[in-house]
Amino acid sequence: MMDLRWWDGVVKCPTCGGIKVCWMPSQRVWKCYAGHPKRTFSLKTGTIYEDSPIPLEKWLPATWMLVNCKNGISSWELHRALGVSQKTAWFMLQRIRLASQDKTHNKLAGEIEADGTFIGGKARNMHASEREEKIKGRGPDGKTVVAAVLERGGTIRARVCNTRRKAELQAFIRENVEAGATVNSDALKSYEGLDEFTHQAVDHAVQYVDGNIHTNNCENFWSLLKRSLKGTHVAVEPFHLFRYIDEQAFRYNNRNMSDMERFVYVMRHIIGRRLTYKQLTGKDGQVAHG
Ligand SMILES: [Zn+2]
Repeated sequence: MMDLRWWDGVVKCPTCGGIKVCWMPSQRVWKCYAGHPKRTFSLKTGTIYEDSPIPLEKWLPATWMLVNCKNGISSWELHRALGVSQKTAWFMLQRIRLASQDKTHNKLAGEIEADGTFIGGKARNMHASEREEKIKGRGPDGKTVVAAVLERGGTIRARVCNTRRKAELQAFIRENVEAGATVNSDALKSYEGLDEFTHQAVDHAVQYVDGNIHTNNCENFWSLLKRSLKGTHVAVEPFHLFRYIDEQAFRYNNRNMSDMERFVYVMRHIIGRRLTYKQLTGKDGQVAHG
C-alpha cells in the first residue's frame, strides 16, 4: 500500500504535499510539521477507506475479492469471510465498487456491437408507489432496461436506460461510439437511422448470426451480468443496479490482466477518492441488502 501510494518511497502529507513529516508509533499516524489543520494522517487518509474504523487488514482482502471473483461477491460472503457485520460488508463493497468505475471516455471504434436487455422485474415485491413508478417508466413488467455498446476485442460500456426508445438508445450510442464505425445490432426499430455509422442489423426472429453480423459478445456479457445478479446479489434495488453493471464491465474490460494487475489497477483508483454515505445511498440512513 505504501509503495502504491508513495511510489518514490517518500511519505507526503495529503493536505499540503509536504515531506516534513514524522511517524508517531503510539497513534500509528504521521504528523505534518506545516501549520495547517488536519496535520495527522494515515495510509487511509484521502482514500475511499478514510473515516472508516475498519482496518486495512480487512479492506485489502475485501478489495481483492471484489475485483477478482468472477461472479462478484455478496455482502453475506464478505461478512462471513472477514467477520464484519453484513451491513458493514455491504458498505465496504459499495465503496470499492465506486473506485473500480471506468472513467475513460474515449469513444469506441471499429467493429461495434450495440444491444440491450431487461433486468429484474419482480414488481410484486416492491412497495405500491415504487411499483407504479417502475411500471410507468420502464420496460415490460417493470423490468429495467440496460443498454450496451461493445468494441470487438476491446471494451464494453453499459448503462441503465429509462426506455428502449430511439432517442435514448441512439444518444447513448453516439456518445460512446466514433462516427464511421460499423455498428451491429438486432432489428429493433430504435436502431434505425444511425446514418453516420455503417449499421448492420440481424433479425433475431430469423437468426442470431449472419456472417459477421451478430451481438454475441454483448450476449455473453449479459449472461455474466445476470448470473452475478442472480447467484450473488440476492436483491439489488434498481437505484444500485448501475454499480453492479459497472463492476461487471470492469471485470470484462480487464479480463486480460492477472489478478495482481487488476488489484493494483483498482488500488491506484482507490487512492485519492472518497465517498460519503449520502452519495452512496442517494438518501440518508437506508441500506440495501445485496
Ligand atoms: Zn501538511
